[in-house]
Amino acid sequence: MARVQLKDISKSYENGSYAVKDINFEVEDKEFVVLVGPSGCGKSTILRMIAGLEEISSGELFIEDKKVNEISPKDRNIAMVFQNYALYPHMTVYENMAFGLKLRKFSKEETKKRVTEAAKILELEPYLQRKPKALSGGQRQRVAVGRAIVRKPKVFLFDEPLSNLDAKMRVQMRTEISRLHKQLEATMIYVTHDQTEAMTMGNKIVVLKDGIINQISTPLDLYNFPANKFVAGFIGSPAMNFLRGKIVEDNGLKFRSEKSTLSIGIPANQIKKLNTYLNKDVYLGIRPEDIYDETNYQQISAYEELKVELDLVEPMGNEIYLYFLIEGVQFIGRIPARVIPKQGSTKNLFFDVSKVHFFDDKTEAAIR
Ligand code: ADP
Repeated sequence: MARVQLKDISKSYENGSYAVKDINFEVEDKEFVVLVGPSGCGKSTILRMIAGLEEISSGELFIEDKKVNEISPKDRNIAMVFQNYALYPHMTVYENMAFGLKLRKFSKEETKKRVTEAAKILELEPYLQRKPKALSGGQRQRVAVGRAIVRKPKVFLFDEPLSNLDAKMRVQMRTEISRLHKQLEATMIYVTHDQTEAMTMGNKIVVLKDGIINQISTPLDLYNFPANKFVAGFIGSPAMNFLRGKIVEDNGLKFRSEKSTLSIGIPANQIKKLNTYLNKDVYLGIRPEDIYDETNYQQISAYEELKVELDLVEPMGNEIYLYFLIEGVQFIGRIPARVIPKQGSTKNLFFDVSKVHFFDDKTEAAIR
């Protein structure tokens, strides 16, 4: 059972600053967990502490129910794949993949068996005698993954492994790593700043900001029930729109923006909680895909109509992004591509009232 547990783990530096604080999460056997957050939020620090490359300042780390804080990296039975691949340029693909086994004094036969097996899984067989410089970025990344696979580690760690690849190769490697996860039935922990990678690959996602876990959940749950304004804005692309306003009583409970441009009736299932916010400031959040136009608003049962001026119109092929301001705040709507509206024109848009989110003005926690 290759389970990994982090209990109250913190990393601090001599100057008193923290890279991460009170980190608690579990990675179950065979689970694929993604750590995601903006640059500097502490993702790599957590991964490096699990690998043993970084000392743990406080807290406990368990691998297979054994405390490993003091165990050296090479004895943790973990393999890490780095962003820059870290391949040896003077060695062939075969030698690069075999190197770790050679260090561990594996026999020639066993080494050959394992490298051949990994090369087959990763479709690297035709390249085994090449040097890394004669490979594409995607192939180099596969060699780096191969080097991890041959060791048959209990846990695989990936640190932004796809960052150096072009967009097309990234999408391809994303599915390859997911396939590999199923095929190897391995426990994997994957770090990325890219929310799309996190959403498409993770069984479970840990969202970090400023060294603190903001939410741990499944991709769908994060999307539908973000714990706070940060998670709501970070997960989903284009990002959720936010507008500040008050909860007021006006023929029923309503959200009213600061300058009264937008007024939205509170959906029945949210009334109980938002009653406690009467006359208080909140943020309203609505995702671009929950804004409709005249061609498709019939699909929604409860909406709020608003006339807006389109600052920018971006046709994406299958859909159109509309940019407009509400009380000086930039909003994006995402509508089906039929007739492309003109930049600068006015347009009636329809906000799906059942899909709005509310956040506490001070703590920014979701109100629900
Ligand atoms: P991420 O991988 O999410 O980009 P890191 O784990 O690399 O973030 O870094 C987390 C934080 O720790 C950053 O704010 C970084 O500035 C800080 N940090 C890293 N090393 C040191 C150090 N030696 N002294 C002080 N702060 C550091």
